[in-house]
Amino acid sequence: MKKRTLYLSVFLFIGLFFLSGLNDAAQKSKVPEFDVLIKNGKVLDGSLKPAYKADVAVKDGVIVRLGKSIKGTAAKVINARGLYVTPGFIDLHTHVDGGMYFPENRACLNYLTQGVTTVIVGQCGSSAWPIFEKAEDQMKRWSEEGIGPNAALLVGQGTVRELVIGMEEREPTPEELEQMKELVKEAMEQGAYGLSTGLIYTPSRYAKTDEITELVKVIVPYGGIYHTHIRNEEDKLLDAVKEAIEISENSGAPVHISHFKVMEKKNWGLVKEACAIIEEARAREVKVTADQYPYKFTSGYPYMSLIPSSAWRGEEEEDEEREDLERLTSEDVEAIFDHLRDSHLIELYKKSTPYYPLSDRHLQFLDEIPRKSLVSMVGRRLISSGAYGGLGTTKGRTLFLKKLNDPEEGKRIREKIRAYIDDISGPENIIVGICVEKNLEGKSLLQVAAIKRKSIEDAAIELELMGARCIPLRMCEEDIEYIMKKDYVGTGSDGTAPFYGIGLTHIRSYSTFLHKIKKYALERKSVSLPHIIRSQTSLPAQIMNWEDRGWIKKGYKADIVVLDPKNIKLRTSISNPHAYSEGVKYLLINGKLVLDRGKWTGNLPGEIIKLKK
Ligand SMILES: [Zn+2]
Repeated sequence: MKKRTLYLSVFLFIGLFFLSGLNDAAQKSKVPEFDVLIKNGKVLDGSLKPAYKADVAVKDGVIVRLGKSIKGTAAKVINARGLYVTPGFIDLHTHVDGGMYFPENRACLNYLTQGVTTVIVGQCGSSAWPIFEKAEDQMKRWSEEGIGPNAALLVGQGTVRELVIGMEEREPTPEELEQMKELVKEAMEQGAYGLSTGLIYTPSRYAKTDEITELVKVIVPYGGIYHTHIRNEEDKLLDAVKEAIEISENSGAPVHISHFKVMEKKNWGLVKEACAIIEEARAREVKVTADQYPYKFTSGYPYMSLIPSSAWRGEEEEDEEREDLERLTSEDVEAIFDHLRDSHLIELYKKSTPYYPLSDRHLQFLDEIPRKSLVSMVGRRLISSGAYGGLGTTKGRTLFLKKLNDPEEGKRIREKIRAYIDDISGPENIIVGICVEKNLEGKSLLQVAAIKRKSIEDAAIELELMGARCIPLRMCEEDIEYIMKKDYVGTGSDGTAPFYGIGLTHIRSYSTFLHKIKKYALERKSVSLPHIIRSQTSLPAQIMNWEDRGWIKKGYKADIVVLDPKNIKLRTSISNPHAYSEGVKYLLINGKLVLDRGKWTGNLPGEIIKLKK
């Protein structure tokens, strides 16, 4: 009995073994040769070559074949007839890391729908670490939980300075400088791609040229890149560009100028001289590049008041002219919170910070921060002093109207408003974004004045009193196109990853890449389509020293855009900034399908691109 059972078992085992072998072989013949096969598309490969017809085959995250009529089976076949096949777009400058802190925004759908497959974050001197968390923790979390686009991280010099010196305007002691260098080194060791500055922001701007140079030197042995929001983008643009180049020359790191432009009407045209300075440096083999967003208006929140508070409240600095003494000031706010114990302040901070839950690093930062900084940080977070006394409040309105109705005061206020408007961009370049009178939306202040049969300043006052939100066009088309034509200027949206529909934002977060293609290549024909595709694919890859992304080439990572040029729809407007763009029919990131017929597949295949030591 026992023996028979044994024979039977052996027989059964052998039988099963053969059967499973056969089954394996049968399945193998069914395994498709490729993961994705894109057929019949017009390829713009990242070079300046015109589009050519070719199929693209993808396997294991990589482009494995590129050529005419590729035969073979594929798990997914995309018919790209009439569509362009381009490398995935690389955004050289984004602030999506703030939004991506929250799992809901990790996909960055506003960028995927534009065809963006890689973002570079930690910009303008500001990064989550080393204050909120360590570089390696952020990278680990994003890798484990998944992100939409690939991401490379920079360390923010402003954040480093805040941690070591706080918000004080002074030079660092030698010890503090060493501490800052250590922090930059730590981030680079953990895979950061370089350093960023935001030299108009506090406390980044307190750093002088030499201090920045010392920090940039730290990234050089790693092959890091220095990204800079330069010190001035207005009348002192040229000095600011020269400083960036000087830092590059004295440190040995490549310098990349973020959102290159010049603002305010009186400075328009200055970009030509700035480009000449850059080109002269490039001729000396200094590695200088730049990026640009293709819009005439700036800022994450581009709307502005048409009435400067100094016009009716007096200058903040000149005490004798300040009349609204009952207005809540930041000193009042600090006085309220100064009465609390440190532990209580930290509790309030924890309850109100958007960075929830707090990392150990973040808690350590709170423990070490000077009391004065803690008080102002908590105060600023909980009470906005500006919310009291504006034109939307009875107090502010009463004071303003009283002054406006006084013949002499009224004349002075109107003159100040007019000078302010002319200074920024002129009434023809101030556009009504959001207004209770819908017919005025999209109109310029000049047009509103004509419709209302009022002077410019009185039209501005009427708009302000009804809470209209206006956008000044601080840049001009001629400058935008001049910069765009340069072969060292890539694309950088400067946008964020907002909660969809929440708050007001710049439309660049939703439409930069497709807007640039549609308006400047397809409509205005200011530059060629291959030129624009290069500016957002192979050029950024070259700037970042990436040798496996940014091209449609065999062996390259399969970050691929399949674009329908006839159906690019930009649904954002200055009255409605939250709207996903359309036109990217299919999107692949690391070989995974992310957009299928324009719809997100739910995949989060983005990788953290770390600087290889
Ligand atoms: Zn910036």
